[in-house]
Parts: sequence; structure tokens; C-alpha cells
Amino acid sequence: MPSTKTNCEMKQYNFQSVFKIIQRYSSISRRELQNLCSLSWGSISAITADMLANQLILEKSHRLGYSGRTPKLLTINSQKNRILGIDINVSSLNFALCDLAGQVLQSETILPKLLNKDEILSVIDEYTSKYFTYYDDIIMIAFSVQGQLNQDCSVSLNIDKIDGWRDVPLKSMYSKKFGVPVYLYHDPDCLLIHTLTKMRNFTEVKHCIELRLSAEGIGIAAMLNGAIYRGNGGIEIEHVVVAPNGLKCKCGKQGCLYAYCTLEGMQKQYKGVTESEFLSLVQRDTPDETILRLFKNYAYYLAVTIQNLFLLFNPEYVFMNGIMTEYKSLFEKELYLKIHEKYHSRVFINTYNPEYPAIGAALSAVDENLNAILFPRKP
Ligand SMILES: [Zn+2]
Repeated sequence: MPSTKTNCEMKQYNFQSVFKIIQRYSSISRRELQNLCSLSWGSISAITADMLANQLILEKSHRLGYSGRTPKLLTINSQKNRILGIDINVSSLNFALCDLAGQVLQSETILPKLLNKDEILSVIDEYTSKYFTYYDDIIMIAFSVQGQLNQDCSVSLNIDKIDGWRDVPLKSMYSKKFGVPVYLYHDPDCLLIHTLTKMRNFTEVKHCIELRLSAEGIGIAAMLNGAIYRGNGGIEIEHVVVAPNGLKCKCGKQGCLYAYCTLEGMQKQYKGVTESEFLSLVQRDTPDETILRLFKNYAYYLAVTIQNLFLLFNPEYVFMNGIMTEYKSLFEKELYLKIHEKYHSRVFINTYNPEYPAIGAALSAVDENLNAILFPRKP
């Protein structure tokens, strides 16, 4: 069958393939590259020479002790093309300055004094200004945002619990302030991109789901046919009903996933304790009977949700991430017991770091602009 790709598309495809391999491996020789992407030696040489000339990658000598040979290894150039990833969520604001491979050059986690729009925006202004003062060559800002985005991903529509946070035009505000393109992504999508980028053996995954298990919510990202599915601006799962006529939820319905599978929802079931008292009960070495029962329910309703996701989407994998994975000793075993064993090898609870959504946002922005980055216009 004749190829439907034009020469230009073929060139872009080959450059992207080579770049994505260098992005995933922190350093790699041309020979290893060729083995992984099945291009000719001539193409590998020409493509990597072009990337070196454009300062996208660097070449480093790596002396092998036994033979005295010094193969040249290719690596992403962290001195150029930096992206500032910023994760906005109610637990903390996370900044991660990344290179094109998502390697973190500097990061910070800030706990805002107040959860209101002015305070959050002033912290973002202050820290973003610092990054732009200290670092050259920041080419983009990429936000990972909790809550809904508008259809063209330029406005953050709302974030529960941040007072006054309605229709915030982050894209226009920050591109005007800092003079670089700004991108907004739904936070579970960022976690999914981070997970897939860091799992080198999963590069061919086409269908997968990521659940962000936060203390105050559950986010979902779905990759279908190799693309993130966003529906009408983003998809949600926390108010899916898992127990008809069940516990009352903050949204007014009964039996939502939120009521059983968030710390906030669980705290309401533990009579007479404040948020911080409940957290210290959960963090005890030997939690009491009520906490154990709440986490048994947590595992059960999460398992019901995961089973349904397998039936609906038949994903290759379901990944879980987020602050709640820190308490996995309280629900992991029960969760797997409740999920049909044929799915066990496809369900992963990953370790969480608050940097990950910000890094995932930066990687998403790189991916969205890959051709512009790989084929920069000559001045
Ligand atoms: Zn609800």
C-alpha cells in the first residue's frame, strides 16, 4: 500500500520518533537510537546533526574503561528550551522548571496562606517572576489545573474551595505578563502524561486511565486510541454514583464516589472530629476500627469504579496516583481482592510526588508544540 504521508510529514514523524527516544532515555548512543527506531544510519546521523545544530540536544563522551573506546552519548540540552510547569490545586501550589525531557532543574511546593483567588494569583505571580529572573530561555508556561477548563483550554472555570475562583483567564493573563505562550491542562491528564513518559516500556500504550486520588477529590484522565479524551473540556468521575441511596454528597446527590473515596468524604462519616484530627487518626501506626472500616469501604467503592472502567473502556492499564496513595497500606490489599483477578496485572498504584502534575503539564506543552520545537524558524 502506498504511504499516505507526504515527505514533509515523514520528516516530522522521523524527527519526532528520534526526539521521543532521546527524551525517554537520559543518555543514548546513535547505535542504540537506531536499534530502537529502525531508521537508517544515514537518517539517524542527519537528524541528530540537525538537533545538535539547533542546540536541542548535546553530545557527551562516555569512556568505557575496558576498551578505551569513547562512544558519544546524546542527551537533552537542559540549558535551552525550558518550560515552567505550575500545578494549581487546593493542597498546594507546585512549581517545576523542566527541560524538554521533563527533567526538573528547580522545583518548589508552596502552601498558600489563604484559599482565595487573589492570594493564589499573587503567589503564582511572585514565583513565576523569580523563575523568569533567575533562568534564561523559558519558552513556555504550562499549568496543571484542578477543576473544569473551558472548551479551548484558555480559562480555568472553577476550583471548588478556592474562594472567588471563577472563569480565570490564566492563558491570556500570563502570556501577557511574561511574553511566552501559556498552556492549560486538566490535572489528571498531566499525571497520565507523566506516568507514560517515565515508564519506558509503556511507550506503545494506546488505551489507559489515570485516577488522581486526592484528599479532597478524585480526578480522571482517559487515553483512548493514543489521545487524551477531553469531552467538552474535561471529564469527571467523583460524582459518579456508586451506591444508589447511599451517603449524602456535598453536590446534593446520594452515593457519589466522592463521599466514600476522599478524605473529606470519609471525615464526615467519622463523627465529631475536625479535618486535622481525622488526618492524625488516619496517620496513626495502628488506626482504630472506624478508620479501618472507612478504608475498607474506600477500597470497595474504588474497586467498583475500576471494574466499571474496565467494562466501559477496556483500557490496557489503570494507573492510580495522588496523595491518597500514601495511605495505600490501608486499602491496597482489599482493593485487589475486590477487583476481578483477570484485571490485576493491569492495575497500578504508583508512588506520588507533588511535582508530577507540574512536570506532566510541561511535557504536555512540549508534545503539543513538538514540530515548532524540532524545526525552529531561523532568525
Ligand atoms: Zn456528589
